Amino acid sequence: MNGSPENWFSETLHGTYEQRFEVTNILHHSETAVQDIIIFETPFFGRVLALDGIIQTTERDEACYHEMLAHVPIFAHGSVQEVLIIGGGDGGALREVLRHPKINMVTIVEIDGSVVELCQKFLPALSKGAFQDPRCNLLISDGVEFVKMTDRRFDLIIVDSSDPVGPSAPLFSDAFYRDCRDLLTENGIFICQSGVSFVQETEARETIRRLNSVFTDAALYVTQVPTYSFGFMDLGWGAQSHTARNTDINTIRTRFNSTQLDMRYYSPQIHTASFALPAYMHY
Ligand code: SAM
Repeated sequence: MNGSPENWFSETLHGTYEQRFEVTNILHHSETAVQDIIIFETPFFGRVLALDGIIQTTERDEACYHEMLAHVPIFAHGSVQEVLIIGGGDGGALREVLRHPKINMVTIVEIDGSVVELCQKFLPALSKGAFQDPRCNLLISDGVEFVKMTDRRFDLIIVDSSDPVGPSAPLFSDAFYRDCRDLLTENGIFICQSGVSFVQETEARETIRRLNSVFTDAALYVTQVPTYSFGFMDLGWGAQSHTARNTDINTIRTRFNSTQLDMRYYSPQIHTASFALPAYMHY
């Protein structure tokens, strides 16, 4: 094992398992008004963000998550213009959404302004200037409160939260999902992150139960993020119509090809395949 013991970051999100990262440099570590935040450098994953001891994103594998969070609903829908992101203070989801020229405005509601400030300073590769895009409308607020009071409507709502503990916990509730549903335009789509089902089965089951109870069309789809240990990372899908999720691959491919976007993970094939779940996720 390289490096002395104190040069390792340990995550024990899943109780009896631990994953460790060799730390070559701690760029920032503090308690914000909301959570503990650390940004550090590693030999393989590049710079890493962790909140309250839980890995959120790394330079090396963040695209596996942010591309699937953004492009699956956008290419399925076909004409997303108004987007709401709840959470996502590192800017990765914002960056990916804004790559689409048809997007008019992205309202991003992040509860902890320090995450936005520190990630722009120490993890600039995540947002890549997205917060300075004139189409970005950044609000530092609790997403639960925002969806209760806004009179805006959105074609796409992305809940890019941390795990359902601490400030993110209320984002995993029926009431919050209902409030989001009521903000969607007619063909609008709701997307949320929902953990790694192989070790967070209860969270995955709860997410699909909530989605089915709130939306006409509900599903899980998956991506694979190496630092979200133990298999598929689940993403939740909710909509008031089945149309978007059943968009055929040729339409997806035509839309994708028209944008000429370079991707590190997403492709039309991965888009359609991501809704094919392993048997252990057939809840
Ligand atoms: N995008 C990262 C990834 O790749 O998984 C992780 C998500 S992002 C860092 C999670 C964000 O959700 C954090 O910045 C956290 O402050 C924010 N958050 C947690 N609870 C929230 C709430 N109730 N309203 C708005 N933002 C919240």
